Amino acid sequence: MLKNKVSFKSIARKLRNRSVDFDIEPYKIWLQKINEFRLESLSDSQLRDMSLELIRQARNGLSENELLIPAFALVREAARRILGMKHFDVQVIAGIAMHDGNLVEMQTGEGKTLTAVLPVYLNAISGRGVHVLTFNDYLAQRDAEWMGPLYGFLGLSIGHVREGMSLSERRRAYEKDITYLTAKEAGFDYLKEFLCTDRKELVLRPFNFGVIDEADSILIDEARIPLVIAGKTDNYIEPGHMTEIIRSLEAHADYEVGEYERTVYLTDRGLNLVETILGAGNLYDEKNLKLLVDINNALHAEVLLKRDVDYIVRNGRIELVDEFTGRVADKRHWPYGLQEAIEAKEGIISDTKGQILSSITLQNFIRLYPKICGMTGTAATSANEFQQFYGLNVLVIPTNKPCIREDLEDVIFTHKEAKLKAITSEIVRVHSTGRPILVGTCSVEESEQLAGALRESGVVCQVLNAKNDELEAGIIAQAGAIGAVTVSTNMAGRGTDIKLGGAWELNREEVVRLGGLYVIGTNRYESRRIDDQLRGRAGRQGDPGSTRFFISLEDDLFKRYRFKELIPASLYPENQENPIENKIIKKRVGNVQRIIEGQNTDIRLTLSKYSSIMEKQRQSVYEWRQGVLCDRVYTGLMPDLLQERYQLLLERVGEQPLRKAEKQVTLFYINKCWADYLDYMSYIRESIHLVNVAGKTPVHEFNKISVESFRNFQQDIVNEIAGKLAVAEITEDGVDMDKEGLKAPTSTWTYLINDSPEQVGINPALNVSAADIFTVGIWMLAAIGWKLFRKEVKQKN
Ligand code: ADP
Repeated sequence: MLKNKVSFKSIARKLRNRSVDFDIEPYKIWLQKINEFRLESLSDSQLRDMSLELIRQARNGLSENELLIPAFALVREAARRILGMKHFDVQVIAGIAMHDGNLVEMQTGEGKTLTAVLPVYLNAISGRGVHVLTFNDYLAQRDAEWMGPLYGFLGLSIGHVREGMSLSERRRAYEKDITYLTAKEAGFDYLKEFLCTDRKELVLRPFNFGVIDEADSILIDEARIPLVIAGKTDNYIEPGHMTEIIRSLEAHADYEVGEYERTVYLTDRGLNLVETILGAGNLYDEKNLKLLVDINNALHAEVLLKRDVDYIVRNGRIELVDEFTGRVADKRHWPYGLQEAIEAKEGIISDTKGQILSSITLQNFIRLYPKICGMTGTAATSANEFQQFYGLNVLVIPTNKPCIREDLEDVIFTHKEAKLKAITSEIVRVHSTGRPILVGTCSVEESEQLAGALRESGVVCQVLNAKNDELEAGIIAQAGAIGAVTVSTNMAGRGTDIKLGGAWELNREEVVRLGGLYVIGTNRYESRRIDDQLRGRAGRQGDPGSTRFFISLEDDLFKRYRFKELIPASLYPENQENPIENKIIKKRVGNVQRIIEGQNTDIRLTLSKYSSIMEKQRQSVYEWRQGVLCDRVYTGLMPDLLQERYQLLLERVGEQPLRKAEKQVTLFYINKCWADYLDYMSYIRESIHLVNVAGKTPVHEFNKISVESFRNFQQDIVNEIAGKLAVAEITEDGVDMDKEGLKAPTSTWTYLINDSPEQVGINPALNVSAADIFTVGIWMLAAIGWKLFRKEVKQKN
């Protein structure tokens, strides 16, 4: 009964090698079979029995493809009974495509949460575990609770993980058939396992299938962000107090801000001044490297990073604002001492100091899942990137009901004030009819400014800055109510449906008559995808609605990418109050976004090249350590390298304590040496751009150095372990780690690094005047060589 005759592989093949597809025809054969699989006449208990039978068959080795048709038919019928929602045909198609490893694009409000249940159930019945990776903690809990009764009915267990949960709560959640959580939480748990010294502390099972919700945000926007686990070590050096020095400098004379306001550098005069104040002589002297890095960090923090734009200060902490979304990015830091420089600038006592013990980018973390699929409202415009980085095809799923949303033409102004005025009067005009309005801004500052202007015009609005996901979900759910004006940074209230008439759809008909939700964008984003996320809030499930962007040529996007130079000087307009009508200018505005999308893809590609080799190294170290921890790997260094001592101790304490000692010491040094290695490589990464001077490609040189240094790292570990085992006191209980000075970090914590190419711009070597480059370059290269050389010497001794 459960066999099917459709060849899944042949369909999958047809769809391969195309990064974006609108053709759902191949999946319709499957849909038809599922539709023919009628289960309405079965009782609830018969449905449950059917699920148990599918689970049994899956655990006896029947493949998911073989079980797809009955499984989907079953889930659909069970969803109808338990949740009162029967999957629409397009949702079934999306579910099949997801099981087939695609990224499906489904408009907002099309029911992605319900859709995901189909592939999740099918892939969970084998018992190997499925992770549904949501956009935030709030959604993990909401979706788990929402879909939980359905999975329960079908005999599968479900859990969710939230920040702050204890180890045992986490373990319980991961043991379930299905676990809802953010990619970040899963990634941090993965990193933490690297520090476990007892296998009982492990919480994760081997990864099996990851379903990624809001896939574009996680797989593209956040992909490059490294997750970090750091620990407190005793030997941390306080950063210098450079902020005051920087504040005494004069713009232009002592430092210059580079193009696009992304770099800043000391002029020769500024450098001389700083050298005089510090009294440490030539800042480019080898001994002054730390001072040089600190002063550049302080300069970057003081001049380029703006409070309430790039970060906010809350509860005595710096909280970074995400450049894409304008949202406060939880637990994210700047790298390489820049974080501390900002803390110094704001007079905050830092609790972030410590050594990085391990790290992985979200992109590399996601790749650890043997099978992934995704869903999002906006994927098609970035399809190539999904293909390139993850091998994921994008399949655009048609809406269940035709989308009648109107996306109106952009209104373009010469300058910001004219734009703000126009937006305000547009809101006042439309608001007077009672039609609900949602305004998407790209920064906290802009939201506040607009709210202020609206207040002056007598319009009361809700302002959301995504500070509290749960609270904001509640507010955004009301954004479709009559008379509602909601001003929101782009991502606030994400994952929440905006129903016309408000959450309970009171006065829905009236709102429909008024034209549905009106979405206003106050900026074009760096990617059309992000614009589309905003647009997608209107026109849900066949609702009426319209969207319009108001932009100005003074917006950051256009300034940063020198829009002015794309326009013949004779055409570039003087400031005017009315919108620009010139067709050439309008066309160029659209082009800018495409150019930037291309540049950003290139940047992400470069960053992934930087991380690729080290990621392979990290994986091998992780595997090794995991093997040692779980007693699958025994290096036998003691019997091999310290035969005499080994024999002696063998007689005295027996074999097990010796093995235990070796395991304890090995686990410790893997962590220590890996942390040192990361430290060293981050230093290389900061200085690697100098190889441009020598006419070499930085990323190649970086990878070359990392291969070489990794060899040293492996050798270092062996030496350290053997060295310790040769002298440590070993008893029946193994090694007393504290007594031997093998102290694990006193505390550890996790965070995200805001890794971006601009960070390379704070590299001191890039910020010196041309005359200095040559000598600095030679010196830095020499320093790298010296450090490598020193390592080798150390081993030989
Ligand atoms: P998305 O994540 O795609 O924006 P959600 O999963 O939040 O959408 O679902 C949007 C709304 O659509 C929810 O209120 C949900 O109850 C409803 N919905 C989804 N699928 C169905 C269905 N098959 N039948 C009825 N309502 C549905």
